[in-house]
Amino acid sequence: MNLILLGPPGAGKGTQAKRLQDTHGIAQVSTGDMLRAEVAGGTPVGLEAKAVMEAGQLVSDDIIVRMLASRVSQPDCAKGFILDGFPRTVPQAQALDRMLADKHLKLDAVIELKVDDSALTERIAGRFTCASCGEGYHDSFKQTAKTGVCDSCGGTQFTRRADDNRDTVVARLEAYHRQTAPILPHYAAQGTLRTVDGMADIGEVASQIDAILAQIG
Ligand code: ADP
Ligand code: ADP
Ligand code: ZN
Repeated sequence: MNLILLGPPGAGKGTQAKRLQDTHGIAQVSTGDMLRAEVAGGTPVGLEAKAVMEAGQLVSDDIIVRMLASRVSQPDCAKGFILDGFPRTVPQAQALDRMLADKHLKLDAVIELKVDDSALTERIAGRFTCASCGEGYHDSFKQTAKTGVCDSCGGTQFTRRADDNRDTVVARLEAYHRQTAPILPHYAAQGTLRTVDGMADIGEVASQIDAILAQIG
């Protein structure tokens, strides 16, 4: 099964993609995670992307499309993939169409997580991640069971993203509405677009997604 999770920054894409990776055995492909690894590794791509990401703007389509093409060719994507944070522009969506056609793959669903802008600032400001296993948490909405200890791996080191601050959020939301939202009609026209209420709590959003996946079987 090949899916896209689409939604503004903080909508819950990573949270739901990680869960689907575990429950459905399909690979989570997060362009944001891949870029952060490039930045941390000080690679040429990372050096180019760092300032753009910190400003809350989008990295060039060229870099992103090349990175994604090599990622979905890897063996763990053979059973399917969940694209989290890609495509984010019309040219990226068009490049993905060509990529899928070349590989004779089909897109099963594009799941839009619809969340009001007013809720996103709080989601992003409270977001933190286990440094060992990458499990995502939230100060108010998804706390660790035991303070300071990761539920998944027992790790005690956590990180917060450099771009998860209130100033950058404004730029990221603006980028979403101006550059990413225009790809929704593209998928509506293809008949693959499904919308879920991303304002609901994490478990309820998961149920809505599972209901869609059960339908498309
Ligand atoms: P969010 O949690 O805000 O949805 P991501 O982790 O997906 O953020 O992305 C973080 C940043 O990485 C983005 O603000 C952007 O600078 C860059 N980025 C990630 N994916 C893409 C993409 N498909 N196209 C362009 N830039 C991207
Ligand atoms: P995205 O990948 O779309 O940027 P995340 O999955 O990282 O979003 O979620 C952003 C933050 O909001 C995280 O701290 C996460 O724990 C929390 N979160 C995710 N889904 C929900 C939800 N439905 N309700 C409340 N908080 C949520
Ligand atoms: Zn952990």
